[in-house]
Amino acid sequence: MKECDVCGTPNLKANNYCTHCGNRIAMDNICPFCGELNSDDSSYCSNCNKQIRPVSIDSFEKLFTDYNKLLLAKAEISDEDYSKLLSNIFRKLKFSKIVGHTLKEKILSIAGVFAECRPKARGEELGFEFGHVLYYDDRLDDSVQIATIIHELTHFLLFDIIESLLCDVFQVKQSSTLEGFVWYCLSNDLALMNEYCAHTVEGRFIPHGYQRYASFESLLEETTFDDEKIGVLMVLGNTFAGEIIGQLEDYIDHDLREAIKLQYKKDLKNPDYNSIGYESMDSVKTDVKNQIIFNYLFDSFDEASDVNNRENLEFLKEGIKNRV
Ligand SMILES: [Zn+2]
Ligand SMILES: [Zn+2]
Ligand SMILES: [Zn+2]
Repeated sequence: MKECDVCGTPNLKANNYCTHCGNRIAMDNICPFCGELNSDDSSYCSNCNKQIRPVSIDSFEKLFTDYNKLLLAKAEISDEDYSKLLSNIFRKLKFSKIVGHTLKEKILSIAGVFAECRPKARGEELGFEFGHVLYYDDRLDDSVQIATIIHELTHFLLFDIIESLLCDVFQVKQSSTLEGFVWYCLSNDLALMNEYCAHTVEGRFIPHGYQRYASFESLLEETTFDDEKIGVLMVLGNTFAGEIIGQLEDYIDHDLREAIKLQYKKDLKNPDYNSIGYESMDSVKTDVKNQIIFNYLFDSFDEASDVNNRENLEFLKEGIKNRV
């Protein structure tokens, strides 16, 4: 028996999905020839010595294979499977209790279901996120801290969605190697998408006029992409934002959103409406978005597999691993 890490129900070892909540239970590396249970990363069965496929990618050598490249080139996901993937990520919220005396504590309790939330009190950024940890500056007004926590949570959720897509393509478990690669994608070619998405989700939960697109703007200043490419990344970011907002609205619900409005009134003078113009209704259908994302991930895979990038990837992987 193995326990579901979302709802705690004991499940039979052979189950891939929890019988109670439908959570995907981590797969085991069972030899298809003799039935031996092998360690996640073994490529040969410890019992019969036959070649088997590891269920976890534990090194960049194992990630950047021609086989995986081909899988990514042919990658596709049906809308139905994608919606399962999304509900698998957000399912944890359904089984968690949102607690807290203050509004900020409640938002932290929601974010804490996914990532570890750590306050910081140094540095000019309002917050940042790396791997499974998000930071928010506790010297800010509560309203701005709340906006920051939602923003950084979105970065984590997008990271989780992209990793889950890759797990689906390669048929493997999550691993720090895969996460190092996802981080590489989201901070290079997909950085504008990533930032636009986080700002848009944040913007949904705070009162009209207070929206900020500052980190997106600073990426815009540095980018060498042409307007068309920037436009595509914004539409992708907006489409992901729509999906994440749709899930979060059930938890950061009407009452909490009203409370956030009040908190802004208490903390700040007037909205400046500076960044609201960045918001857009432009999005694409799920399958179109996912196909474009796979193309981007394929290009990033090609680029990242260059040995000159190895040191950088190892650095990201270690950073993510050490903060888990
Ligand atoms: Zn379960
Ligand atoms: Zn075997
Ligand atoms: Zn950001």
